[in-house]
Amino acid sequence: MIKADAYGHGMAQVAATLDADGYAVARLDEARQIREQAVVKPVLVMGGVYSRGEVEEAAGLDMDLALHDEWQLGLLLDARPARPLRVWLKINTGMNRLGLPGGRAPYWIQRLAACVAVNGVQGLMTHLANADDPGDPLTQRQCRRLRDVPGAQGLALNIGNSAGLLGCAEARTDWVRPGIMLYGISPFLHETGGQRGLLPVMTLSAPLIAVNHCRKGDRLGYGGTYQCPEDMPVGVIAIGYGDGYPRHAPSGTPVLLNGRRVPLLGRVSMDTVMVDLRGLPAPDIGDQAILWGTGLPAEEIAGASGTIAYELLTGVTRRVRYEHVNQEPA
Ligand SMILES: *Cc1c(COP(=O)(O)O)cnc(C)c1O
Repeated sequence: MIKADAYGHGMAQVAATLDADGYAVARLDEARQIREQAVVKPVLVMGGVYSRGEVEEAAGLDMDLALHDEWQLGLLLDARPARPLRVWLKINTGMNRLGLPGGRAPYWIQRLAACVAVNGVQGLMTHLANADDPGDPLTQRQCRRLRDVPGAQGLALNIGNSAGLLGCAEARTDWVRPGIMLYGISPFLHETGGQRGLLPVMTLSAPLIAVNHCRKGDRLGYGGTYQCPEDMPVGVIAIGYGDGYPRHAPSGTPVLLNGRRVPLLGRVSMDTVMVDLRGLPAPDIGDQAILWGTGLPAEEIAGASGTIAYELLTGVTRRVRYEHVNQEPA
Protein backbone atom coordinates (compact mmCIF):
# COMPACT_ATOMS: atom_id res chain seq x y z
CA MET A 1 0.00 0.00 0.00
CA ILE A 2 1.60 3.21 -1.12
CA LYS A 3 -1.50 5.42 -1.11
CA ALA A 4 -1.39 8.88 0.47
CA ASP A 5 2.23 9.38 -0.62
CA ALA A 6 3.14 6.04 0.93
CA TYR A 7 1.60 7.02 4.26
CA GLY A 8 3.56 10.26 4.13
CA HIS A 9 6.94 8.64 3.38
CA GLY A 10 7.23 9.53 -0.33
CA MET A 11 5.55 7.25 -2.85
CA ALA A 12 8.33 7.26 -5.43
CA GLN A 13 11.05 6.48 -2.90
CA VAL A 14 9.03 3.75 -1.23
CA ALA A 15 8.15 2.10 -4.54
CA ALA A 16 11.82 2.20 -5.51
CA THR A 17 12.89 0.61 -2.22
CA LEU A 18 10.12 -1.79 -1.31
CA ASP A 19 10.05 -5.00 -3.30
CA ALA A 20 6.51 -6.30 -3.74
CA ASP A 21 4.49 -8.28 -6.30
CA GLY A 22 2.49 -5.13 -6.89
CA TYR A 23 1.46 -1.84 -5.36
CA ALA A 24 -1.88 -0.35 -4.52
CA VAL A 25 -3.15 3.21 -4.36
CA ALA A 26 -6.55 4.71 -3.62
CA ARG A 27 -7.03 6.95 -6.66
CA LEU A 28 -6.20 7.23 -10.31
CA ASP A 29 -4.17 10.42 -9.74
CA GLU A 30 -1.85 8.44 -7.51
CA ALA A 31 -1.64 5.71 -10.14
CA ARG A 32 -0.56 8.27 -12.72
CA GLN A 33 2.17 9.53 -10.38
CA ILE A 34 3.48 6.06 -9.75
CA ARG A 35 3.69 5.18 -13.46
CA GLU A 36 5.54 8.48 -14.01
CA GLN A 37 8.18 6.99 -11.69
CA ALA A 38 8.67 4.21 -14.22
CA VAL A 39 7.22 1.56 -11.91
CA VAL A 40 6.23 -1.36 -14.15
CA LYS A 41 4.81 -3.77 -11.56
CA PRO A 42 1.03 -4.20 -11.26
CA VAL A 43 -0.67 -1.23 -9.59
CA LEU A 44 -4.17 -1.65 -8.16
CA VAL A 45 -6.41 1.41 -7.97
CA MET A 46 -8.64 0.57 -5.02
CA GLY A 47 -11.23 3.23 -5.74
CA GLY A 48 -11.68 2.21 -9.36
CA VAL A 49 -12.87 4.63 -12.03
CA TYR A 50 -15.68 7.17 -12.24
CA SER A 51 -16.03 8.09 -15.92
CA ARG A 52 -15.47 6.73 -19.42
CA GLY A 53 -12.37 8.94 -19.66
CA GLU A 54 -10.97 7.39 -16.50
CA VAL A 55 -11.48 3.89 -17.89
CA GLU A 56 -9.38 4.87 -20.89
CA GLU A 57 -6.75 6.54 -18.76
CA ALA A 58 -6.55 3.53 -16.42
CA ALA A 59 -6.07 1.25 -19.40
CA GLY A 60 -3.38 3.54 -20.80
CA LEU A 61 -1.58 3.34 -17.44
CA ASP A 62 -1.96 -0.46 -17.37
CA MET A 63 -3.80 -0.44 -14.06
CA ASP A 64 -5.61 -3.13 -12.13
CA LEU A 65 -8.96 -1.79 -10.97
CA ALA A 66 -10.98 -2.66 -7.88
CA LEU A 67 -14.62 -2.08 -8.76
CA HIS A 68 -17.12 -1.63 -6.00
CA ASP A 69 -20.47 -0.89 -7.55
CA GLU A 70 -22.70 -1.73 -10.46
CA TRP A 71 -22.50 1.73 -11.95
CA GLN A 72 -18.72 1.42 -12.24
CA LEU A 73 -19.03 -2.03 -13.75
CA GLY A 74 -21.50 -0.66 -16.26
CA LEU A 75 -18.88 1.85 -17.42
CA LEU A 76 -16.60 -1.02 -18.37
CA LEU A 77 -19.27 -2.88 -20.33
CA ASP A 78 -19.54 0.00 -22.82
CA ALA A 79 -15.85 0.95 -22.85
CA ARG A 80 -13.44 0.23 -25.69
CA PRO A 81 -10.06 1.07 -24.15
CA ALA A 82 -6.84 0.63 -26.11
CA ARG A 83 -5.99 -2.43 -24.01
CA PRO A 84 -8.05 -4.53 -21.63
CA LEU A 85 -7.94 -3.95 -17.88
CA ARG A 86 -7.45 -6.42 -15.07
CA VAL A 87 -10.25 -6.05 -12.55
CA TRP A 88 -10.97 -7.11 -9.01
CA LEU A 89 -14.48 -7.21 -7.61
CA LYS A 90 -14.73 -5.54 -4.25
CA ILE A 91 -17.30 -7.29 -2.07
CA ASN A 92 -18.98 -5.79 0.98
CA THR A 93 -18.66 -8.38 3.74
CA GLY A 94 -19.62 -6.22 6.70
CA MET A 95 -17.81 -2.90 6.64
CA ASN A 96 -20.67 -1.34 4.66
CA ARG A 97 -18.42 1.27 3.07
CA LEU A 98 -17.61 0.14 -0.47
CA GLY A 99 -18.41 -3.12 -2.19
CA LEU A 100 -20.99 -5.17 -4.04
CA PRO A 101 -23.22 -7.58 -2.15
CA GLY A 102 -21.63 -11.04 -2.52
CA GLY A 103 -24.78 -12.33 -4.21
CA ARG A 104 -24.12 -10.10 -7.24
CA ALA A 105 -20.68 -11.58 -7.87
CA PRO A 106 -21.72 -14.49 -10.14
CA TYR A 107 -23.64 -12.14 -12.44
CA TRP A 108 -20.71 -9.73 -12.77
CA ILE A 109 -18.08 -12.43 -13.13
CA GLN A 110 -20.10 -13.74 -16.09
CA ARG A 111 -20.71 -10.31 -17.64
CA LEU A 112 -17.06 -9.32 -17.31
CA ALA A 113 -15.84 -12.60 -18.80
CA ALA A 114 -17.55 -11.51 -22.01
CA CYS A 115 -16.46 -7.86 -21.81
CA VAL A 116 -13.82 -6.69 -24.30
CA ALA A 117 -12.62 -3.94 -21.96
CA VAL A 118 -11.65 -6.49 -19.33
CA ASN A 119 -8.94 -9.06 -19.16
CA GLY A 120 -10.96 -11.32 -16.87
CA VAL A 121 -11.77 -10.96 -13.21
CA GLN A 122 -8.54 -11.42 -11.26
CA GLY A 123 -10.28 -12.09 -8.01
CA LEU A 124 -12.38 -10.91 -5.14
CA MET A 125 -11.33 -8.48 -2.47
CA THR A 126 -12.86 -7.18 0.70
CA HIS A 127 -11.81 -4.80 3.44
CA LEU A 128 -11.90 -5.60 7.16
CA ALA A 129 -13.72 -3.17 9.43
CA ASN A 130 -12.51 -4.14 12.91
CA ALA A 131 -9.33 -6.13 12.46
CA ASP A 132 -7.47 -3.68 14.72
CA ASP A 133 -9.35 -5.31 17.60
CA PRO A 134 -8.08 -8.91 17.56
CA GLY A 135 -10.98 -10.09 19.70
CA ASP A 136 -13.70 -8.96 17.29
CA PRO A 137 -15.40 -11.97 15.66
CA LEU A 138 -16.47 -9.82 12.67
CA THR A 139 -13.01 -10.29 11.11
CA GLN A 140 -13.34 -14.06 10.72
CA ARG A 141 -16.92 -13.67 9.63
CA GLN A 142 -15.89 -11.22 6.90
CA CYS A 143 -13.18 -13.59 5.67
CA ARG A 144 -15.65 -16.49 5.50
CA ARG A 145 -18.22 -14.37 3.71
CA LEU A 146 -15.71 -13.59 0.98
CA ARG A 147 -14.59 -17.19 0.66
CA ASP A 148 -18.22 -18.29 0.41
CA VAL A 149 -19.26 -15.81 -2.27
CA PRO A 150 -20.95 -17.88 -4.98
CA GLY A 151 -18.58 -18.11 -7.93
CA ALA A 152 -15.47 -17.41 -5.80
CA GLN A 153 -14.04 -20.89 -6.42
CA GLY A 154 -10.99 -20.62 -8.62
CA LEU A 155 -10.64 -16.87 -8.14
CA ALA A 156 -7.85 -15.27 -6.14
CA LEU A 157 -8.89 -13.79 -2.81
CA ASN A 158 -7.43 -10.57 -1.47
CA ILE A 159 -8.17 -9.65 2.14
CA GLY A 160 -5.41 -8.92 4.62
CA ASN A 161 -4.65 -5.38 5.64
CA SER A 162 -1.93 -5.07 8.31
CA ALA A 163 -4.21 -5.96 11.19
CA GLY A 164 -5.79 -8.87 9.32
CA LEU A 165 -2.39 -10.23 8.33
CA LEU A 166 -0.98 -10.08 11.83
CA GLY A 167 -4.13 -11.09 13.68
CA CYS A 168 -6.24 -13.48 11.62
CA ALA A 169 -5.13 -16.60 9.71
CA GLU A 170 -8.17 -16.44 7.38
CA ALA A 171 -7.09 -12.99 6.19
CA ARG A 172 -3.76 -14.35 4.85
CA THR A 173 -5.13 -14.89 1.36
CA ASP A 174 -3.60 -15.24 -2.12
CA TRP A 175 -3.01 -11.49 -2.22
CA VAL A 176 -2.77 -9.21 0.79
CA ARG A 177 -2.63 -5.45 1.19
CA PRO A 178 -0.39 -4.45 4.10
CA GLY A 179 -0.05 -0.71 4.66
CA ILE A 180 0.86 0.73 8.04
CA MET A 181 2.97 -2.25 9.16
CA LEU A 182 5.34 -1.68 6.23
CA TYR A 183 6.16 1.64 7.82
CA GLY A 184 6.89 0.05 11.20
CA ILE A 185 3.67 0.97 12.94
CA SER A 186 1.37 -1.47 14.73
CA PRO A 187 -2.17 -1.57 13.35
CA PHE A 188 -3.53 -2.65 16.73
CA LEU A 189 -4.98 -0.42 19.40
CA HIS A 190 -2.83 0.11 22.51
CA GLU A 191 0.33 -1.37 21.04
CA THR A 192 3.46 -0.12 19.29
CA GLY A 193 5.25 -1.56 16.28
CA GLY A 194 8.27 -2.23 18.48
CA GLN A 195 6.23 -4.74 20.45
CA ARG A 196 5.84 -6.70 17.19
CA GLY A 197 9.47 -6.32 16.14
CA LEU A 198 8.60 -3.60 13.61
CA LEU A 199 10.95 -0.63 13.20
CA PRO A 200 9.59 2.83 12.46
CA VAL A 201 10.57 4.05 9.00
CA MET A 202 9.80 7.73 9.57
CA THR A 203 11.57 9.85 12.14
CA LEU A 204 10.32 13.42 12.49
CA SER A 205 12.85 15.77 14.02
CA ALA A 206 13.38 19.48 14.52
CA PRO A 207 15.97 21.67 16.24
CA LEU A 208 15.87 23.39 19.59
CA ILE A 209 15.86 27.09 18.69
CA ALA A 210 15.58 28.85 22.08
CA VAL A 211 16.06 28.18 25.78
CA ASN A 212 14.01 30.51 27.98
CA HIS A 213 14.63 30.94 31.69
CA CYS A 214 11.08 31.28 32.91
CA ARG A 215 10.06 32.43 36.38
CA LYS A 216 7.65 30.82 38.78
CA GLY A 217 4.12 31.85 37.70
CA ASP A 218 5.00 32.60 34.03
CA ARG A 219 2.43 31.36 31.56
CA LEU A 220 3.54 29.77 28.32
CA GLY A 221 2.33 30.24 24.76
CA TYR A 222 -1.12 30.89 23.30
CA GLY A 223 -3.80 31.03 25.96
CA GLY A 224 -1.15 30.66 28.67
CA THR A 225 -2.47 27.20 29.41
CA TYR A 226 0.69 26.12 31.21
CA GLN A 227 1.91 28.03 34.27
CA CYS A 228 5.45 27.42 35.52
CA PRO A 229 5.39 25.98 39.06
CA GLU A 230 8.92 27.22 39.72
CA ASP A 231 11.80 29.00 37.99
CA MET A 232 12.64 26.65 35.12
CA PRO A 233 14.27 26.37 31.69
CA VAL A 234 11.82 26.01 28.79
CA GLY A 235 12.94 24.94 25.33
CA VAL A 236 11.37 26.02 22.03
CA ILE A 237 11.49 23.51 19.17
CA ALA A 238 10.96 24.55 15.55
CA ILE A 239 8.01 22.36 14.68
CA GLY A 240 4.27 22.85 14.98
CA TYR A 241 0.91 22.01 13.52
CA GLY A 242 1.95 23.71 10.27
CA ASP A 243 4.35 20.79 9.87
CA GLY A 244 1.81 18.17 10.83
CA TYR A 245 2.59 17.87 14.53
CA PRO A 246 -0.85 17.38 16.13
CA ARG A 247 -2.24 20.58 17.64
CA HIS A 248 -4.16 18.53 20.16
CA ALA A 249 -1.03 17.04 21.74
CA PRO A 250 -1.50 18.03 25.39
CA SER A 251 1.04 19.26 27.95
CA GLY A 252 3.03 16.22 29.01
CA THR A 253 3.26 14.59 25.56
CA PRO A 254 6.83 13.28 25.32
CA VAL A 255 9.47 14.76 23.01
CA LEU A 256 12.86 13.08 22.72
CA LEU A 257 15.75 15.48 23.23
CA ASN A 258 19.35 14.33 23.59
CA GLY A 259 18.15 10.81 24.29
CA ARG A 260 15.76 11.82 27.08
CA ARG A 261 12.03 12.29 27.15
CA VAL A 262 10.98 15.83 27.96
CA PRO A 263 7.33 16.84 28.32
CA LEU A 264 5.57 19.22 25.96
CA LEU A 265 4.30 22.38 27.69
CA GLY A 266 1.29 24.50 26.73
CA ARG A 267 -0.37 24.67 23.34
CA VAL A 268 1.20 23.56 20.10
CA SER A 269 1.70 26.59 17.80
CA MET A 270 1.89 26.60 14.01
CA ASP A 271 5.69 26.72 13.94
CA THR A 272 6.84 25.79 17.44
CA VAL A 273 6.28 23.67 20.49
CA MET A 274 7.68 24.28 23.96
CA VAL A 275 9.21 21.66 26.24
CA ASP A 276 10.23 21.35 29.87
CA LEU A 277 14.03 21.32 30.09
CA ARG A 278 14.25 20.67 33.83
CA GLY A 279 16.53 17.75 34.41
CA LEU A 280 18.10 17.91 30.94
CA PRO A 281 21.83 18.56 31.23
CA ALA A 282 23.24 21.29 28.97
CA PRO A 283 20.67 21.61 26.20
CA ASP A 284 22.09 23.55 23.26
CA ILE A 285 20.55 25.58 20.49
CA GLY A 286 20.59 23.35 17.42
CA ASP A 287 20.12 20.08 19.34
CA GLN A 288 17.76 17.90 17.30
CA ALA A 289 14.58 16.82 19.02
CA ILE A 290 12.69 13.74 17.84
CA LEU A 291 8.92 14.21 17.74
CA TRP A 292 8.26 10.60 16.72
CA GLY A 293 10.15 7.75 15.13
CA THR A 294 13.29 5.99 16.35
CA GLY A 295 13.14 6.00 20.14
CA LEU A 296 9.67 7.53 20.40
CA PRO A 297 6.75 5.59 18.88
CA ALA A 298 4.32 7.59 16.74
CA GLU A 299 1.60 5.40 18.26
CA GLU A 300 2.31 6.98 21.65
CA ILE A 301 2.09 10.55 20.33
CA ALA A 302 -1.08 9.65 18.45
CA GLY A 303 -2.64 8.15 21.57
CA ALA A 304 -1.83 11.25 23.63
CA SER A 305 -3.36 13.44 20.89
CA GLY A 306 -6.59 11.48 20.48
CA THR A 307 -5.75 10.17 17.02
CA ILE A 308 -4.00 7.24 15.32
CA ALA A 309 -0.48 7.02 13.91
CA TYR A 310 -1.94 6.74 10.38
CA GLU A 311 -3.11 10.34 10.67
CA LEU A 312 0.22 11.60 11.99
CA LEU A 313 2.25 9.94 9.23
CA THR A 314 -0.02 11.04 6.40
CA GLY A 315 -0.38 14.52 7.88
CA VAL A 316 3.27 15.65 7.66
CA THR A 317 3.10 18.76 5.49
CA ARG A 318 5.08 19.84 2.47
CA ARG A 319 7.02 22.37 4.54
CA VAL A 320 8.97 19.54 6.18
CA ARG A 321 12.21 18.69 4.42
CA TYR A 322 12.48 14.99 3.61
CA GLU A 323 15.70 13.08 3.73
CA HIS A 324 15.51 9.54 2.42
CA VAL A 325 18.18 7.32 3.88
CA ASN A 326 18.88 3.76 2.93
CA GLN A 327 19.60 2.02 6.13
CA GLU A 328 19.63 -1.61 6.98
CA PRO A 329 18.16 -2.28 10.42
CA ALA A 330 20.87 -2.72 13.05
C1 LIG B 1 -5.47 1.54 3.34
C2 LIG B 1 -6.01 0.23 2.96
C3 LIG B 1 -5.30 -0.94 3.27
C4 LIG B 1 -4.08 -0.96 4.15
O1 LIG B 1 -4.47 -0.86 5.50
P1 LIG B 1 -3.40 -0.86 6.69
O2 LIG B 1 -4.23 -0.81 7.90
O3 LIG B 1 -2.58 0.38 6.52
O4 LIG B 1 -2.59 -2.08 6.55
C5 LIG B 1 -5.79 -2.14 2.75
N1 LIG B 1 -6.91 -2.17 1.99
C6 LIG B 1 -7.61 -1.06 1.71
C7 LIG B 1 -8.85 -1.17 0.88
C8 LIG B 1 -7.21 0.16 2.20
O5 LIG B 1 -7.93 1.25 1.93
